[in-house]
Amino acid sequence: MELELRGRYRALNAELADVVRAAGRSNVPTVVAVTKTQPRSAVLEAIDAGIRDIGENYYQEARGKLAGLPPVRKHFLGHVQTNKAKGIVEEFDMVQTVDRLDAGRALAKAARGLGKTLPVLVQINISPTERYGADPAEAERLADQLRQEGLQVDGLMAIGPNSTDQSEVRRAFERAAQAFSRVGGSTLSLGMSGDWREAVRCGSTMIRVGTSLFGPRAAKAK
Ligand SMILES: *Cc1c(COP(=O)(O)O)cnc(C)c1O
Repeated sequence: MELELRGRYRALNAELADVVRAAGRSNVPTVVAVTKTQPRSAVLEAIDAGIRDIGENYYQEARGKLAGLPPVRKHFLGHVQTNKAKGIVEEFDMVQTVDRLDAGRALAKAARGLGKTLPVLVQINISPTERYGADPAEAERLADQLRQEGLQVDGLMAIGPNSTDQSEVRRAFERAAQAFSRVGGSTLSLGMSGDWREAVRCGSTMIRVGTSLFGPRAAKAK
C-alpha cells in the first residue's frame, strides 16, 4: 500500500508538471489529498510520501483520525453546518466550503473565540448536479461580507459537473475562473481525480484528489 501510494503520488506529480507546462503556466497547483473514508494509516502514509495538505468532508470522521498528525494543513471540504462550526474551526486550518453568510458568521464567531485567523474559500456552484455552493454572480458580495466578519477569504472553491463532456466541464471551470478574478485571493480550488487536468488548464491553483492517490472509495461516501 505504501509503495502504491508513493507511486501514485509520484505519477500524479509528473503528470501535473506536464499539464502545467503544456498550459503555459509556471506555478504548480497544490495537491490536497482527500482522505475521507480512508483510515488514519493512509493519512500517515500520505504524509510520509510528502503530502502536506489533507482534506476531509466530515467533522466527526476527521476528529479522531487527524488528531496529533505531523504538521500538515487540514482542509475542511464538507458542507458547513452552523452547529458544527466550533468543531470545524478547532480541527481544521482552512475551510473551503463557505457558501452562505450564516455559515461564515458561525465560523467567524468560533474563530474569534479561539483567537484564530481562519482562511476560507467561497464555494460556488458551477454544476446542475451539485447541491451546495453560492451563485457565481454572488461570489464577490459574499466574499466581501465574509471579510467584514473577519474571515480571511483566500479565494474560491468549486466542484465540477460530474460529466464526461469535456466542453461542459471546461465551460463550468471557466465560469469559476472568472468569478475568482473578481473575488481575488491566492487560491482557486478546482479539480478532482477525474477532472483536474481541465481545471489546471482553466487556472486552478489547488487540486483535491482522493481516488487518484488512494484508489476507489467504498460505496456511499461522497
Ligand atoms: C471527495 C472529494 C474530492 C476528491 O474526489 P476524488 O474524485 O476521489 O478525487 C474532492 N473534493 C471534494 C469536495 C470531495 O468531496
